[in-house]
Amino acid sequence: MIAFNIPPYIGGEEKYIAAAIEKRKICGDGEFTKQASHLLEEIIGTKKVLLTTSCTHALEMGAILCDIKPGDEVIMPSYTFVSTANAFALRGATIVFVDVRSDTMNIDETLIEAAITPKTKAIVPVHYAGVGCEMSVINKLAENHDLYVVEDAAQGIGAAYGDRPLGAIGIFGCLSFHETKNVSCGEGGAFLINDLRFVERAEIIREKGTNRSKFFRGEIDRYSWCDIGSSYLPSELNAAYLFAQLKQLGKVNADRLDTWNFYKENLRDLKECGVIETADIPANCTHNAHMFWVKLKNLKERTKFIAYLKQSGIGSVFHYIPLHSSTAGLKLGRFHGEDKFTTVESERLVRLPIYYGMTQADREKVVEVIHDFFGDNV
Ligand SMILES: *Cc1c(COP(=O)(O)O)cnc(C)c1O
Repeated sequence: MIAFNIPPYIGGEEKYIAAAIEKRKICGDGEFTKQASHLLEEIIGTKKVLLTTSCTHALEMGAILCDIKPGDEVIMPSYTFVSTANAFALRGATIVFVDVRSDTMNIDETLIEAAITPKTKAIVPVHYAGVGCEMSVINKLAENHDLYVVEDAAQGIGAAYGDRPLGAIGIFGCLSFHETKNVSCGEGGAFLINDLRFVERAEIIREKGTNRSKFFRGEIDRYSWCDIGSSYLPSELNAAYLFAQLKQLGKVNADRLDTWNFYKENLRDLKECGVIETADIPANCTHNAHMFWVKLKNLKERTKFIAYLKQSGIGSVFHYIPLHSSTAGLKLGRFHGEDKFTTVESERLVRLPIYYGMTQADREKVVEVIHDFFGDNV
């Protein structure tokens, strides 16, 4: 069986975890949290990184820092994970969904401006598959309309838009280290702050609304309740595991890119004769091979395709069911403009196996089975 995903294990993770245990320091904000945060600041070139328990929680921190209040509107694609919307809905925002582009499945930057109203507070671009959204357009709109930009870069570690790493382009960025992402610690995330004015409040929100971070640095002699907040800091055990993986980020992404390029090359014939579509990466984007997707003709063909792969011992999965047509989405949001691509494209898309350490034999098997599926139709 070729799994759709195998969480990365690189070697060395247990050494760091053992070191944390040895020191009897396993709660949050110890040495490994510090080292992992600094390494991320270097990799991403962001001003400040705060590790979090998940990307979901990093997005929640972003929503609090944007001062989202009931009645505010937040613009994002409908084709995304629930957390992108939930984080803002929790603060009382109305979610305004905008259609995606069919080439990248990212929010269509040309449709955002028409969705802006006097109530709009933030834009949340999601870098689908680790391919950057058109951030120069989005940042310009935000500047002109005085809006926050919170990047959902959950899938984007190591990827860039132009020369700017994803997560370092908006005012805030959010990363995920869930086991389905390129590097992982099981469950975990990071909140990236690109404007130092927000660091002090972000530290308070992350530490249950207290100024405990300042207290631990010896800047004050007691800590107290200063603001709303929650417990968003991960344990040292997770940070230790993550630190080992971050040190090998280049190796992991290069390995995934080999698989990605192999699929791209070896499915080219099917793309050229028009039976499938695959991603074309915009010229100004450097992706991180987070995902390799294929689009079939329609939902019916996709269902058959997934079943055929499964019966041939290959795991594949489809992705988001658009949020705007879900039970919560209907209640908490609205779609602005025409749903030209979100629904139809989401029903055609399927994700192929891709993970660190995938063997050449397995890559070849996937390509072969896909060719068998189309058989004489090609
Ligand atoms: C994985 C993912 C999340 C959630 O990440 P967690 O760390 O599991 O909370 C949010 N948004 C997108 C686009 C994701 O892919």
